[in-house]
Amino acid sequence: MMFFDEDHEAVEAAELTKQTLVDTQARMGVMLDLMPMGLLIHTRQGIIFGNQEAARLLQVPQDEVVGRHFLDFLTNHADEAARQMEDAFDGLIGAKPTEAELRPVDGGARTIKLIAGALPWEGNPVVQLLLQDITDLKAIQDRLHRLAVTDELTGAFNRRHAFSVGRALFDKEKAAHRGIAVAILDVDHFKLVNDTYGHSAGDAALKTLTQSIHEILGVGASQDLTFARVGGEEFMILFPVMAPEAVLDICERIRREIEQRPVLSGAGTFRITASIGVTLQGEVDPSFDALYSNADRALYEAKSTGRNRVCWDEATPKPLQQAMGY
Ligand code: GH3
Ligand code: MG
Ligand code: MG
Repeated sequence: MMFFDEDHEAVEAAELTKQTLVDTQARMGVMLDLMPMGLLIHTRQGIIFGNQEAARLLQVPQDEVVGRHFLDFLTNHADEAARQMEDAFDGLIGAKPTEAELRPVDGGARTIKLIAGALPWEGNPVVQLLLQDITDLKAIQDRLHRLAVTDELTGAFNRRHAFSVGRALFDKEKAAHRGIAVAILDVDHFKLVNDTYGHSAGDAALKTLTQSIHEILGVGASQDLTFARVGGEEFMILFPVMAPEAVLDICERIRREIEQRPVLSGAGTFRITASIGVTLQGEVDPSFDALYSNADRALYEAKSTGRNRVCWDEATPKPLQQAMGY
């Protein structure tokens, strides 16, 4: 009788403990499901727990998360993520966060910040992975960056961006005893365009010109050349280290294309021309801004000798000028 009671109590106690554990797990699950961050508990073999947000990010039903492997869900930067997980398996509590891209299913690719850390567990090495969805944040960042560097009317880079790129390039090449080239382009008699066809036709001309130059420079394909609108009808081209003959060739092609391409505007179709001043960075040039002044001087030369032409800065070595017919 006594034995039975004791047995009964023991079974009841065990039942209670088990139920408490189940309740605790369920309660923990509910708590973790409320987290705005994905959470995965991972062994070397695979996932043993995933909260609701993790399931949403991985784009699988929550009850199908367990047993899968996190790295199988990545399309980009999987190496860095794997390394971070390995560090965590080795016992590192707070490894350096990395960014990774989750493979797209229906909702498109998502970018996540991954934070991996060791999780004390009996026997089996276990890590916890925190997944923060930074897709929207990245998109906003990219958009803000684009806005900050772009000229609104033409879509070319703006002056601030071009000067910051120019100064950085100048310093880098100066240290390497090499040089960039700078060209300044100014539309000829642009005031006359506005006076004749109106301001919005003038705007159309600036857009057409930008399109011509983007096509010639292969903007999008090559990030090496920077083309920017630096003033009303004034533009700058930054050339990385390249043969002066090639710089001149590009400037000539640009000049010719602008001259040939008609501007279609509401007020009629017309053509424009532009003058270009070019200079090469030499050992004596102290700064990018000084180089820019040299290009401006060359531009003045192009204007005063008839416009619709490319002129080298007088500081360009004489043999080079002669070789190019200047
Ligand atoms: P030059 O050949 O010597 O360069 O003569 P120019 O008439 O082009 O030079 P000027 O500097 O006298 O005139 C530039 C004109 O560009 C004056 C200004 O009204 C016009 N302009 C500046 N920004 C814009 C713009 O965004 N849109 C339009 N339509 N015109 C602009
Ligand atoms: Mg002008
Ligand atoms: Mg001007």
